[in-house]
Amino acid sequence: MHNEQDIPAPSPIEIIKDKSNYLRGTIKESLIDPLTGGMQPDDQVLIKFHGTYQQQDRDLDEERKRQKLEPLYSFLIRVRIPGGIATPEQWLSMDSLSDQYGDKTLKLTTRQTFQFHGVLKRNLKKTMQEINKSLFDTIAACGDVNRNVMCSANPFESPVHAGVAEDAKRISAHLLPRSNAYHEIWLDGKLIEGGEKEEEPLYGKLYLPRKFKIAIAIPPRNDTDVLSNDLGFIAIVENGKLTGYNVTVGGGMAYTFGNTDTYPRVADVVGYVPKEQIAEVAEAILIFQRDHGNRSDRKNARLKYTVDRVGLDFFRSEIKRIKGIDLAPTKEYEFETMGDRYGWIKSADGMWHYTIFIEGGKLINRNGYLAKTALREIALIHQGKFILTGNQNVVIAQVSEGQKPLIEKILKKFNVINASGISLLRQNSIACAALPYCGLAFAEAERYLPTLIDKIDKILEANDLLQVPISIRMTGCPNGCGRPFLAEIGLVGRAPGLYNLYLGAGFAGERLNKLYKEMVNEQQIIDILSPILQHFAQSRTKDEHFGDFVIRKGYLKATTAGKNFHD
Ligand code: SF4
Repeated sequence: MHNEQDIPAPSPIEIIKDKSNYLRGTIKESLIDPLTGGMQPDDQVLIKFHGTYQQQDRDLDEERKRQKLEPLYSFLIRVRIPGGIATPEQWLSMDSLSDQYGDKTLKLTTRQTFQFHGVLKRNLKKTMQEINKSLFDTIAACGDVNRNVMCSANPFESPVHAGVAEDAKRISAHLLPRSNAYHEIWLDGKLIEGGEKEEEPLYGKLYLPRKFKIAIAIPPRNDTDVLSNDLGFIAIVENGKLTGYNVTVGGGMAYTFGNTDTYPRVADVVGYVPKEQIAEVAEAILIFQRDHGNRSDRKNARLKYTVDRVGLDFFRSEIKRIKGIDLAPTKEYEFETMGDRYGWIKSADGMWHYTIFIEGGKLINRNGYLAKTALREIALIHQGKFILTGNQNVVIAQVSEGQKPLIEKILKKFNVINASGISLLRQNSIACAALPYCGLAFAEAERYLPTLIDKIDKILEANDLLQVPISIRMTGCPNGCGRPFLAEIGLVGRAPGLYNLYLGAGFAGERLNKLYKEMVNEQQIIDILSPILQHFAQSRTKDEHFGDFVIRKGYLKATTAGKNFHD
């Protein structure tokens, strides 16, 4: 039996949620406060649930301080797009909003959505309204709730893909917060009279202890990194039909430097459910985490820690108690890759689909590479859809035979890279946003990884490895937005110009990497990788992946579970 002293105090964020009146706080007042470009501290927490973060331009911090000005605050806005599907009209809206209110770039995230950066407070509400006019929204794109639901990238590829995309949308709608605060604040919706009486039947007024991520993958492609999610579904196809899903729980990337109680974790595959049960299972597992997750220490609050703390037997019994769900034995599946297929593919219905490589997911016109303009031009004539992938790329989907040459002409005109001309390392790269806007970044990621890859490419070229697939991911901190701990070469920022180097992940996203060297600069990274890659070129077995090779040759031990990530 607990006495009061045994119950740890809730974290400060829990208290902010508790007194927020279902995510309202004083956001409205903060938005019109003319004395600052930022929001009040509690509102900075609450706006995340509405899909936006307060950030500041860190490139300008010194200069602003010198001028005795507050930092240049601006806002990131993340759109909610289950499965990453956008119409050409929606694409054009996002593109023009980024020019009008953002920093003229569009970030395609690792969770299949658009992200705007650099939106000033005075433009925040207008931008939210325009996003809603385009029939997207930003509800629950961030915060302690279920985030954007991912699924394998192209729903137009086959009926199985279409079924999975429908299920992603279904889960997303099922787990959406019900608070009317979003509509009141951003869309001038009618105030709920006596707002305190409003209810969140699923979340309650404290919402979840921490963020909650869901993805679906269709083997053999693991293009959503399904095992990095709190909850995942692996599609099981029998006789050409989608019958159900293997359920995975307890994935997550983040850890805190110097705190070995925190670790990235690959999800456990815990059983199988028929297709019809997917939303109910998702709800049961979300409720399990709501009720058993740690609400006193946010660094130990994700589902991965809950599962490790209570054990899978208790987890299963709770899922049965909550929703009467008995997980059936796991079905066979195999993943081969986490990557995207670039270029054209043709689906059985005769339509074409073109996947474009977007380095770091950053749509920006630079150095004669005009992908942002090219995609806008394509959106003006495209009759199908755009699909954002979990690898920060974009698929121009449902192109007819007649339209194909027109699309190709535009790509060529704007010098959009044909992925076949670049190394497979670059093709399998991911970088998070990091500097200048992310307040948590210790080092560059998206702005720097392309340059580092130029240098690693030289080693690959010397060893005839340019066309060998190797995954590389870089983030500015260990929060893991770019899923660096599932990369064969993972680089995580420690300080400006210094990174931890992790090696040994599985190429298909089934095994974490491990720390190989701490605090290394660019030259050290090159000096470390050069002999290992040379060894790989000389001694790899047929089709052996780099992550498997470094383990077989004893460069480091395999990470077999999140808990031994630090061993
Ligand atoms: Fe920011 Fe860290 Fe996420 Fe990168 S991984 S975007 S640096 S929080």
